[in-house]
Amino acid sequence: MNEEVTQPEMEEEVWRGKNKKRDTKKHPRMSTPLHGLHGIPWGGNLTLADTTIRMSNTCSFDNVLFIIYAMHKTEQQFSNFIINLQLCGDKSAKSLVKIFRNLDSANFDRAKTRCVLDLIKDFPVSRNPRTGEALPSPLLSGNFYGSEETILNAIAHFVTVVETRNCPNPLCQLPKTGQEIHPSSDMGWDVRNPTSLAFALNNGITGRCVGTSNGKQKCRERNVRTAYKFKDDQPPPFIAFTIPFQQGKDASLENTIPQFQTILNQKYRTFAYTLNTGAHYLTVFCRPDRKMFLFDGLHPNTLPEYKPLNKHSVSTIFLIKADES
Ligand SMILES: [Zn+2]
Repeated sequence: MNEEVTQPEMEEEVWRGKNKKRDTKKHPRMSTPLHGLHGIPWGGNLTLADTTIRMSNTCSFDNVLFIIYAMHKTEQQFSNFIINLQLCGDKSAKSLVKIFRNLDSANFDRAKTRCVLDLIKDFPVSRNPRTGEALPSPLLSGNFYGSEETILNAIAHFVTVVETRNCPNPLCQLPKTGQEIHPSSDMGWDVRNPTSLAFALNNGITGRCVGTSNGKQKCRERNVRTAYKFKDDQPPPFIAFTIPFQQGKDASLENTIPQFQTILNQKYRTFAYTLNTGAHYLTVFCRPDRKMFLFDGLHPNTLPEYKPLNKHSVSTIFLIKADES
């Protein structure tokens, strides 16, 4: 099926050299734990039962995957968290552990195939023009443009906050507390800058009284104040969230990202963020000593030191729980 597929020209990343040989060597010169990892190269081949599909625009998910992998390899608390979820039977965590093993041995195609089949599933379905078979559109076209949020959605349930509603309507029968929310998914959080999610969680937000009605009388009170806390009062080891890209606007630039933010009384450190250049995604890793390193899947095994340029929009931010001190 892959022979007949054409890709939208606008979305194609044309700068990649054809037949570029993959370099799976690690970076020899730098000495941070990040430099000991195999960088995930752009593109690759997706292998389904009887078909191989050439992938394009994979940077949309490569960067998020590489950040998650780097957290797993360099942050013990995150690694323990994933392993524990896996042991509890969490499907996304099980897939991630398999993907991490593939990345450890530089099996990038296998890692990406599993990532696509298990984690990036929320795409609209298209029909194969030849066979009529309905498949998620990237599996037909190989084009993964726009998959950054779908991979984040697959792990959004790793981070849960519980909402408490303070509804002034005396007839309101909805439960005051218990609604669980995943701040990493794109469910209407007003994230306009790198600190607005923290602000919303710390200060609460005002909105309509909706939620689990379960046969109870509906309440449409408008000015309902909600407050948040981490589920079971357990701060998760990481929080990730996306800042929506606004066409023609630099929604959020790098110099607005603080090194630390406190969310619901827990201090978090910026671990990495992705940049949207308009046509490509890059990752900036932020080390505790404030050194920054740039990852680009087009040159996956050079992780040069980086100074913020403040010209590209920040897309996704990954925070890691800061050490207690
Ligand atoms: Zn209400």
